[in-house]
This record gives sequence, structure tokens and C-alpha cells, in this order.
Amino acid sequence: MKIICIGRNYVDHIKELNNVIPGEPVFFLKPDTALLIRNRPFYYPSFSSDIHYELELVLKINKVGRHIERQFAHTYFDEIGLGLDMTARDLQENAKKKSLPWAVAKGFDNSAPISSFVPANKFRDHGNISFHLALNGQTVQKGNSGLMIYSFADIITHISKYMTLRTGDLVFTGTPAGVGPVKIGDVLEGYLEDEKMLKCEIR
Ligand code: MG
Repeated sequence: MKIICIGRNYVDHIKELNNVIPGEPVFFLKPDTALLIRNRPFYYPSFSSDIHYELELVLKINKVGRHIERQFAHTYFDEIGLGLDMTARDLQENAKKKSLPWAVAKGFDNSAPISSFVPANKFRDHGNISFHLALNGQTVQKGNSGLMIYSFADIITHISKYMTLRTGDLVFTGTPAGVGPVKIGDVLEGYLEDEKMLKCEIR
């Protein structure tokens, strides 16, 4: 399986990192070795001194698809969960400056803690799903799928123009404002609507 992540999908987050609103969805990959499941702890890697959290809604792909038409895009995922797109911001900024790929900054081991998933049809309106992240009990990120520049359907249509989607692939749909650094001892808790779905302790 592969993990496809959308970058720059919330205007407020684009502004906080001084980026430009993209003309089409920007995406990058994480390998399957990035997955961190069952609320296992995240061990701060030695190669970075500026690891950031980014909480995102995650779609689980349920069938093979390529060149998916927008009107059918919603039939290609049937579960939604939360994921943390853990980012070595120092390595990413360095890569950006040199116009190099983000692979290391975004794809290192355990850089994708994920929650369990719930049926997508649990949500009446996919354009109005709220989520938030608490850092040591304080809310630091608040998001809603209605604030995404590119909707779930836009994202799936776009990715599948270039890459075949397969059952079990995960799509991280972008992060809202409020990203920031973690330190050893921090506890991150992700909420989907009002339900706590994800916990990640930094060790
Ligand atoms: Mg992200």
C-alpha cells in the first residue's frame, strides 16, 4: 500500500508557512514503513531538531481506480480516520531552499501515526467534517473538511490521473493552521468530530 499526502489544502495553513495557494492539488508520498498504528508512541528521531505535528483527515481507498471521474470519486473510499503527518520541518525547509524532494522530511519511519477508521457513511455531509488536535490537553489545530481548497472528490480525481489507487491506500487530505513543534514528553490527541480517535505520546 502507499500513503498519498496532500500539501497546502487549507488557506490558513498556507499563510502560516508563507506558501502560495496552488493551482492544483500538490501531493507527495510516504512509504508504508511510515505507518504508526494502535496509538504507539512516537520516538523523536536523532536526525531532526524540529519535528512538527500536522493533523489531517485520512481516507481509506476501497478499490482499484485510475482516471477516476469526479462524480464517482466518493465510491473509491468507504472509511475515514485521522492521521498525523509528522514532518521534520528543519529538513523540509532545507530541501525547499535547495529545491530538493521532501522524501526524508516527510517519509521517515513512523512519520504517519494513524487512528482507527470509521465508515464514511457515518458522516452525512463530507463537506462538513470537523476535527481537532490537542497538545497536552490544549487545542492547537481545528479543521473542517468544508475549509479544504480541494475536496475529497477533487483530490481522488487528481491523484488517480497520475497514480493508480489501490485497496488499502491511504490519502492524507491536508492540514489546517496551528501546526507546531513537539518535544519529548508531549501528548497529541486527535478528535474526529467530538470523538477521541488518536493518541500519540512523544518519547
Ligand atoms: Mg500535511
